Amino acid sequence: MYVILFGAPGVGKGTQAVLLAEKTGLSHITTGELFREAIRQETELGKQAKVYYDRGQLVPDHFTIAMLLERLSKGDCADGCILDGFPRTLEQAAALDEALVREGRVIDKVVYIQAPEGELLSRLSGRWSCRQCGSVYHERFQPPREAGRCDQCGGELYQREDDKPETARRRLEVYAQQTAPLIDYYRERGKLLEIDGDKSVEEVAENLLAAVEGS
Ligand code: AMP
Repeated sequence: MYVILFGAPGVGKGTQAVLLAEKTGLSHITTGELFREAIRQETELGKQAKVYYDRGQLVPDHFTIAMLLERLSKGDCADGCILDGFPRTLEQAAALDEALVREGRVIDKVVYIQAPEGELLSRLSGRWSCRQCGSVYHERFQPPREAGRCDQCGGELYQREDDKPETARRRLEVYAQQTAPLIDYYRERGKLLEIDGDKSVEEVAENLLAAVEGS
């Protein structure tokens, strides 16, 4: 099954995708993390992407689509996966549909997780990430056991450049302009399921699983 988790930055897609992957056994593919890895490793793609990434802008479609399709071609995605943070433009959605159709596959469900804008901003600006393993914490909702240290690997926690308040605001604007039109794209195709993201992590996870497993 191919599932897209869709919603504004800060709505909890990443956290929910990890939980959904554990419950369903599907691989979790996140373009944000693929970019962060490329930036950490200072690959050619990483150097190109960093310019956009640090400003809270979308990385141009041709880089993003090529990177995602290459990841999708790996064996662990042959029977499905959870996509988190992709697609984010109509061009990306069309490229994904085309690539899947060529192999007789389709997107099964798109789950749109929603939350009010004020809540999104506060979630984004309280977020801390591990430099080493990429785990994400939140000073209010999911603090680490020891301040500044990752529970998973002991790595140093830092605030992502794009989670700083001004950039977070810009990311929400970019979402409204470039990504929100995808809601209609998937609604028209009968794929869109909507769930309320303004609830506890556990409640959202339960509703998400029910949406994905429902017929
Ligand atoms: P995220 O962690 O999903 O919020 O993504 C962080 C940043 O990575 C975004 O602000 C973009 O700069 C870049 N990015 C991630 N996914 C995409 C995408 N599908 N298209 C373009 N840029 C992306």
